[in-house]
Amino acid sequence: MALGEFELIRAYFERSAGPRRALLGIGDDCALIQPAPGQSLAISTDMLVEGRHFFADVDPAALGHKALAVNLSDLAAMGARPLGFTLAMALPQADERWLAAFSGGLFALADAHDCELIGGDTTRGPLNLCITVFGEVPPDAALRRDGARVGDDLWVSGTLGAPAWAVACRLQPEAFSMSGVDDPGARSPDSTVAANPDVDARADVGVQASTASTNTCARPSTEHAALAAARLRLERPQPRVALGLALRALANAAIDLSDGLIGDLGHVLSRSATARAAPMGALIDWPSVPVDTALDHLPDTQRIALALSGGDDYELLFCAPVSARPALAVLRGSLGLTLTRIGTVTGESGVQLLDAHGDRIDFHAAAFDHFR
Ligand code: ADP
Ligand code: MG
Repeated sequence: MALGEFELIRAYFERSAGPRRALLGIGDDCALIQPAPGQSLAISTDMLVEGRHFFADVDPAALGHKALAVNLSDLAAMGARPLGFTLAMALPQADERWLAAFSGGLFALADAHDCELIGGDTTRGPLNLCITVFGEVPPDAALRRDGARVGDDLWVSGTLGAPAWAVACRLQPEAFSMSGVDDPGARSPDSTVAANPDVDARADVGVQASTASTNTCARPSTEHAALAAARLRLERPQPRVALGLALRALANAAIDLSDGLIGDLGHVLSRSATARAAPMGALIDWPSVPVDTALDHLPDTQRIALALSGGDDYELLFCAPVSARPALAVLRGSLGLTLTRIGTVTGESGVQLLDAHGDRIDFHAAAFDHFR
């Protein structure tokens, strides 16, 4: 690398003010951190690999944001407060413009969550990013996957399906976008929709709900705005850290949605069933699922596949007792974030999706058709 490894770390990753919260940060053999008395360390790692987790032409600032966001999302799902993170990276070359944009996106999100970079490793190689986050949570308050109870309400934050649609439009434009959109904003989402994504995405998008049920009716400009909004959700997920902290006192179990609601719900149900040594399943009321308005123009089978089996939503799915409903209504107002009750935990294994008449919808068929 033209820029040596240590110069690169100093220029783009070591901050002059030094560590704020860690006892010792970047520059020694280890960092030293100390959780507050009575708190456990919550630790999680996520790796992002080019071609698998992001497109090669992704905006490096967005990549810096997302690499940390997916890790903070795990802390949120555990009800943990962020403390710090390490960054291990392989870079094909030391491209200073790329590094400036990447570290800018990374630190903007880190600062927003008061989570500091305390160390890492830097090497030459195919682009690969691995972040480990450290947070703190009182051990009894952690939002584990195995705490769901039969009779709990199932809740989800924000809206679902937009990131998966953005990916689908890129990979299979003929199948998922009405006009085989030529994707004018592929690299930089329209700034007019870059409102605060922490707030309900329905308000951000500003797209009129469409009554179109086929691929031919909606106007292309409407789809372009919807796609720009969806791409923003894909590239700049907002980890629901404040929600996770508030749920410590309200939820029995939680998970963040990275691999699609049905699959992630399955993890909660199977771990909870094992913990209670009893069968557990769920009923989901499809009409109440908060599908992102960016998907309004798509046929229902695609909306079901994208919202329930797509991925990359980074919203929280949580199980809470019925008695928590009033507190959750208040929380929705104070966080300015949509919280939607989508179903119930049942004592029969399996997940069933019900339509407005209470009839079963075959969501396996929808997912199979669209994600083969
Ligand atoms: P070691 O040889 O002990 O692994 P390194 O020479 O790899 O240490 O790194 C020197 C210091 O720089 C360490 O404190 C390490 O945590 C930090 N560091 C290396 N790469 C990064 C990075 N990408 N971001 C932040 N800190 C880093
Ligand atoms: Mg090293």
